[in-house]
Amino acid sequence: MRAVLRFVTYKITRDPDGEVTFQARCVCGDDKECGAESNVLGGEEAVSDWMAEHTVATGHRRFERIFKDYALVQAEG
Ligand SMILES: [Zn+2]
Repeated sequence: MRAVLRFVTYKITRDPDGEVTFQARCVCGDDKECGAESNVLGGEEAVSDWMAEHTVATGHRRFERIFKDYALVQAEG
């Protein structure tokens, strides 16, 4: 990804040393959200498994997913 600011181009990449994490929260419910939250997990597959297990256990089918990574910004001149 690139951004141009004051005629300098900045390149933005994912920091390979930063941990990438996923988390899901159940937002199912008419009056009140269920609010069940997974742990902070190290992969998309793990968070998918958690959601599937929660759906089997409760019938809930709608989740908020939180993805986090770290980015590095480098000026390209
Ligand atoms: Zn739920």
